Formats: sequence, C-alpha cells, structure tokens
Amino acid sequence: MQNTANTALTFFCPRKSCKCYQSTENKITKDGVYITKSDFEPRQMFYCNGGKHRFSETGYSDLFGKHGSFKEYEQTAKLNSYGLGTDAIADVLQKDR
Ligand SMILES: [Zn+2]
Repeated sequence: MQNTANTALTFFCPRKSCKCYQSTENKITKDGVYITKSDFEPRQMFYCNGGKHRFSETGYSDLFGKHGSFKEYEQTAKLNSYGLGTDAIADVLQKDR
C-alpha cells in the first residue's frame, strides 16, 4: 500500500504587528472568500484567532494590490525561471511591465 504525501501547510499570521506573527502555535481558520476584478479565481480570507483579525491570502505578500490573476502570476514565475526578463514577460502576457 502506498502512502500519500501530506502536502498540507501550516498556516501562520503574516501581520508583523500581530503578537502571533509567524507563530505555528496560533490557530488560523478560513473565513470566507472574495472576488477581484482581475481574476475569476476567488481569494481566500483567513482569521487569526490569537490576534483576532482577518487577512487575505495575498495580504502582506508582494502580490497584494497587483492587478493580475493567479494564472498570470504562475506564468510570470515560470517565464522568469526560464530566464526571460521583465520586458519580455510583459510582452508575452500583454501586460504593462
Ligand atoms: Zn495575527
């Protein structure tokens, strides 16, 4: 019998000012989803139980406030790993650099 790999990640609070910042002992629960104009894929909201605040899955990341879809972020990362520069990637995806 083959064991399946456990790919579940431990969630932690990304807010630097929170007392539970990056603590793996803190409980994080899913707290609804929201839609952005640039993506059909919903974004997950989380609740930091120790710090008693909500945050988005892209909040506090470099993706926050960017106007792309998850698919475009993935394509950008792949093209970048193949050595394509920012201008070339923007041209391929027909996006502003
Ligand atoms: Zn927190």
